[in-house]
Amino acid sequence: MEKEAAKKRIEELSEKLDRWNYEYYVLDNPSVEDAEYDRVMAELILLENEYPEFRYKTSPSQRVGGAVLDSFEKIPHRRLMLSLGNAFNEEDIRDFDRKIRMALHKSEVTYMGEVKIDGLGISLLYNEGVLQHCVTRGDGNVGEDVTSNIITIHSIPLKVKETRPFEVRGEVYMPKASLAKLNREREEKGEPLFANARNAAAGSVRQLDSSIAAKRGLEGFWYYLVNAREIGEHIHSESLDYLDELGFRTNHERRVLHGVEEVLAYIKEYTEKRESLPYDIDGLVFKVDDIDSYDILGYTAKTPKWAIAYKFPPLEVTTKLKDIFLTVGRTGRITPNAVLEPVRVQGSLVQRATLNNEDFIREKGLMIGDTVVLRKAADVIPEVVRPVKEKRDGSEVPFIMSETCPECGHELTKVQGLHYCLNRDCPSRKIEAIIHYGSRDAMDIEGMGDKVVEELFGEGFIKDIPDVYELYNHAARIQELDGWGDKAISNLLTSIENSKTRSLEKLIFGLGIKEIGLKTAKTLARRFKTLDDLAATPVEELVKIDDIGEIMARNIASYFADDHHKELIERLRAQGVNFTYLGTDTIDTSSYFYGKTVVLTGTLSRYGRSELTEILEGIGAKVSGSVSKKTDCVIAGAEAGSKLDKAQALGIKIMDEEELLTHLSNLRG
Ligand code: NAD
Repeated sequence: MEKEAAKKRIEELSEKLDRWNYEYYVLDNPSVEDAEYDRVMAELILLENEYPEFRYKTSPSQRVGGAVLDSFEKIPHRRLMLSLGNAFNEEDIRDFDRKIRMALHKSEVTYMGEVKIDGLGISLLYNEGVLQHCVTRGDGNVGEDVTSNIITIHSIPLKVKETRPFEVRGEVYMPKASLAKLNREREEKGEPLFANARNAAAGSVRQLDSSIAAKRGLEGFWYYLVNAREIGEHIHSESLDYLDELGFRTNHERRVLHGVEEVLAYIKEYTEKRESLPYDIDGLVFKVDDIDSYDILGYTAKTPKWAIAYKFPPLEVTTKLKDIFLTVGRTGRITPNAVLEPVRVQGSLVQRATLNNEDFIREKGLMIGDTVVLRKAADVIPEVVRPVKEKRDGSEVPFIMSETCPECGHELTKVQGLHYCLNRDCPSRKIEAIIHYGSRDAMDIEGMGDKVVEELFGEGFIKDIPDVYELYNHAARIQELDGWGDKAISNLLTSIENSKTRSLEKLIFGLGIKEIGLKTAKTLARRFKTLDDLAATPVEELVKIDDIGEIMARNIASYFADDHHKELIERLRAQGVNFTYLGTDTIDTSSYFYGKTVVLTGTLSRYGRSELTEILEGIGAKVSGSVSKKTDCVIAGAEAGSKLDKAQALGIKIMDEEELLTHLSNLRG
């Protein structure tokens, strides 16, 4: 690149990175993926290495972290709080090891491998055995005093037996479960969700009101005794053992590694283990174990040379949205699906992803031909996050929802934003209904998965659910099909036979009544005990059941009133399928909450509202939205408002979180 062009590019990249830093560190609200940030940073560093005359002191490559906010007291770090150098692949790791071996004149170096927790770096300062300050990294020189927020993390020792002054650094983070709970609560309140655990943790630590941090379920892992040698520790791994002894929560995924091959094996192991950890990690950190060699290895302006962060490949990747096709579900619901240019995310190849419905596509502004960001969440379903609009070249075409069913050509009907094919003879609907009937949560017919049902349907052996029980009539012909031996068909027939004895809730769920999930099916089965009793119950009676709303009640009643379904049920009966509830009611009727009407108000630190509702309903309570004379008890959390006043006025029992916990723990005990 020409010198002038390089200068211009450096300025461009720096400006971008400055903006992203501000969004990330100050606003806790990044607009680009970390991998994109890292890619731009790598390009900047490469150019600055080529043209060092343009490496300005203010360059983002020379700066640690973000700005220091005025809202908190500023505390200068006695020792700079640095960032870490990055490695993205095996070559980078080998390079790091080679440089260290050369500098130390050693043929093999011992490292400490640790997980890189995706939170925010915090420093704890102790003197005379007492915690004095908790400070953010800030810009590396000066941090923010966030003590009142950090000490809400109960695992941090306020007093320790070590009386010499010392400093411990670590990562404050939000466990996956806390993030899920927090986002659930925010969703209920209509507040914007946190994009990831790091932003949620950083946002919580930098709240001026420490009661907010207290409610957020933060945790900390402590990974670095800064003045180890003053405390008599010369080996990093041993200094962590000492922190353990002092009562600090250190991370036990750590391992002493001898030489680079063990480092690489640790990377391989944790690339697989990563998702199973209860907290997010965005990489691994490798540190030279011998602290005395840090003097020889030294520091760059921004990072120590004795440590490196290996960054995992991103969980988010970009790929092309090649096409969108429609599928038909068992209720006739039409779902648009993305055909993607095959791409690897977290080790698996993704080429399809659901796009939910027409509105989803419109809200995201997706066009066919777009480059899209794809995320593979922990629950393995790949999700299209958004289009990369900057990459459009004009060849993209908008998606137009079809007006007819892609399978049978029947006209589609739109209900509450969703499209349905209402033709009950639509082959796709039939196939999906049979697959659902045999699925694990329904009648659990082993060996009757998607492919088998599609094949048997295609051959004309099953056309509807009851045909499954007459499949034995076709055994000889099925055996002639490719891949169907004696054994396969007899196994399938046995599991079909076994399914006749399932309990009623599985049958109700398996029938595929619109909007009746497994939980509702259980409620109905417990309540009615037989399918005939359920079928004979009118809408007016059904709506009286907790959990059953008007729409569900209508769906149930109209399902059983339908002649086609009546015939289907009679055929199942004739085949000997069990129609009764076989479970036992496990609700503890002696619990305080059994049969009580309860109202929730205010914010509880342990439970989100929907979570607690589920728990209480599970033990026989009815959770209501408003206080009336019929209310038995009001559970009041922090900042409870008018419901609490009303409960007091009516003399209703008021329960605080502590009492609630006692009741719940009695129950479990
Ligand atoms: P870093 O996250 O790459 O690594 C350094 C930090 O790792 C340390 O300061 C420490 O807080 C943490 N850490 C976690 N576990 C550790 C352990 N066991 N030992 C030591 N340290 C551990 O560096 P950074 O300076 O905090 O952040 C830079 C990174 O942040 C970038 O590479 C990028 O991925 C991301 N970022 C993204 C944006 C964006 O807009 N998306 C903006 C700025 C930064």
